[in-house]
Amino acid sequence: MPAPGPSHQTPLAAELKRLIKLNGPISVADYMSACLSDPKHGYYARKDPLGPSGDFITAPEISQIFGELIGVWCVGVWESMGSPSSFVLAELGPGRGTLMADAIRASRIRPAFLESATIAMVEINEDLRRAQAASLRGYTSPTWVDHISDLPPGPLIVIANEFFDALPIRQFVKTEDGWAERMVGFDDTGALSFGLRRLPDAAEDRTDAGIGAVREDCASAKTIVKQLAERIAADGGAALIVDYGYRQPGFGDTLQALRQHQYDDPLAHPGEADLTAHVDFASLSAVASDNGAVVGPILDQATFLSRMEIEARAAMLAKSAGEDTRGAIATAVRRLTAPEEMGSQFKAMAFASHGVSLPAFDGVT
Ligand code: SAH
Repeated sequence: MPAPGPSHQTPLAAELKRLIKLNGPISVADYMSACLSDPKHGYYARKDPLGPSGDFITAPEISQIFGELIGVWCVGVWESMGSPSSFVLAELGPGRGTLMADAIRASRIRPAFLESATIAMVEINEDLRRAQAASLRGYTSPTWVDHISDLPPGPLIVIANEFFDALPIRQFVKTEDGWAERMVGFDDTGALSFGLRRLPDAAEDRTDAGIGAVREDCASAKTIVKQLAERIAADGGAALIVDYGYRQPGFGDTLQALRQHQYDDPLAHPGEADLTAHVDFASLSAVASDNGAVVGPILDQATFLSRMEIEARAAMLAKSAGEDTRGAIATAVRRLTAPEEMGSQFKAMAFASHGVSLPAFDGVT
C-alpha cells in the first residue's frame, strides 16, 4: 500500500479521488469549484473564513474607512445618475457585511440615497448571511440572492471586494508541444497532484510565451461582468470591483491557498483552505466595454483610496480618538495603501452606463 499523501486528510480529498479514479483528472477550475463551493465540504459552504480566527483578513475588516469611502463613492455615482428614487445597491460576496454597514453609515450624508435603495446581497454561505444580517441590523434589512441574475430589477449600483478572486480559473501551460491544460489527478503515493493534458487545438499559438509560461482564464468572472455590464447599460448604474489582480494578461500562475493566515499547498487541504487566483483586470475591462458599459482606468487600490481622500477621513477619525486608536488608524491606512502591503497588489476597476460619472476614476462619462 502506498503511504497516504497529505491530501488524504480532508473528506473532500477522498471524494475528489473517488471521482478522479472514475472519470480521470479534473481541471484546476473544477478542483477550485469543489474546494470552494461543494455544498457539503466546500470552503465557502462550510464556515466563516474571515477575521483573526479565520484564514484571512480583508480590507473592510482592517478599517471602517474602506467601506465608508466606498459608501461615499456610491453616493457620488447615484447623484450622477440623477438621484433615482428607486435603485438597487448590491454587494457580491459581502463576507461579514462589514463593508456594506460602513458604506451605509457613510451614505447618511444624503438621506435620500438610503431611502431610495433596495439593498441586495449576493451570498451563498448561510453562516455569512446570518453574520451580514447581524452587521446590518439597525441600518437596513437586505434581501439575499444566490446569483446576480436574481437581483431585483431597476438601476443598479454594485460593489464587490475580494469576490472575483474566489471564482474558479483554468490554467494553461506552454510546453514543447504547444499549450496544455493543467489538471488535478493523483500520483502513485495516492496524493493529489498536478498533471498536464494536451489541448487538441493547441496547434496555432500566436503568443510569444516561453516554455513553462502559465496563463489563466476565469470564465465565470467574465460571465458575471458581462451580465452586470449588460444590465447596467440597459437599466443605468455602475459597478466597482476591488481585488488582488493584474493589468496585463499572461501574468503567470497565481493560484494560491491560505489556511490560518499561512500560505498552503493548494492541493494539501481541499475544502479547508481558501483558494484564490489573481483577477485578470484587463480581460474584465474588455468584457465590460464589449457589453455596453463605459469602463474607467484600472487603478491601484492606493490610488483609488487616495483619490477618495482616505487621508482626510483618517485625520478626521484620529481627531476624536485616543492615542492608541490614533496609532491603529495610521497602521490600518498603511496596510490599505502601502505598495508593499495591499496598496498596489490590489486594484480597483469601475464601469457605468453612459453619462454616469465614476468618482476617483477620472470622472469618466
Ligand atoms: N467582500 C468580503 C468577503 C470576501 S470573501 C470582504 O471584503 O470582507 C468572499 C465572499 O464571497 C464570501 O462572502 C463568500 O461566501 C462569497 N462567495 C464566494 N463564492 C461565491 C459565489 N460563487 N457566489 C456568491 N458568493 C460567493
